[in-house]
Amino acid sequence: MPECNICGSTSFATAPNNRLSRKKQAPLCTSCGSLERQRIGRELTSAVRIREKFKTYTLLDIGKDSTVAKGWFASSSVMEPSDAMIDRLGNREKFDFIVCSHVIQNLRDPRRAISRLVSSLSDDGILFLNYPSPVTRRETEQLNTGYRSTGPRYIFGRDFEQTYHTVVPEAYVVAAEGTDPVTQDTDIVYFATKSPFWTTQLVKNMNARLVH
Ligand SMILES: [Zn+2]
Repeated sequence: MPECNICGSTSFATAPNNRLSRKKQAPLCTSCGSLERQRIGRELTSAVRIREKFKTYTLLDIGKDSTVAKGWFASSSVMEPSDAMIDRLGNREKFDFIVCSHVIQNLRDPRRAISRLVSSLSDDGILFLNYPSPVTRRETEQLNTGYRSTGPRYIFGRDFEQTYHTVVPEAYVVAAEGTDPVTQDTDIVYFATKSPFWTTQLVKNMNARLVH
């Protein structure tokens, strides 16, 4: 029986709007509320976690998220996932680990947001970034949102990877592929870091490739 790798539960239900996984499995953990993306993120971040280092790190979640365990870190905080809040990052406080999961597709300016997130990383810091849906799409599409102020503005394709060298020229970007232990769906997630040490670790410990 598949088990949630975040809370250990074996009970799953359909996601909001009766959504099933790509392989037609119920993706929502009824105990912790995790979906495919959090569990894939947990698999990958567990593979690269170095306990003693993470214990000294500060965590910032962009929006409430369960991808990484708060207990892995020295401290944790949550920020509202908006263009305005992300724009304020990078000026003063630096963070050692930032999780930005399924946020940038809802923003007005995803490139600027990624740049701000990377500029608020410490020298050793790691950004975990994922968004729908480079695993299924080749080309990015901008949605016609009209006056709507919430909901997705973009669906990203793998072509978005080509923008990283201009968006975050100061960072290494690693793309990793992971599998959800519950639904067996796969996804591509991205890690950005200015640290050569972490870049090596990321590529070595996951099914990953260096994007730039
Ligand atoms: Zn769970």
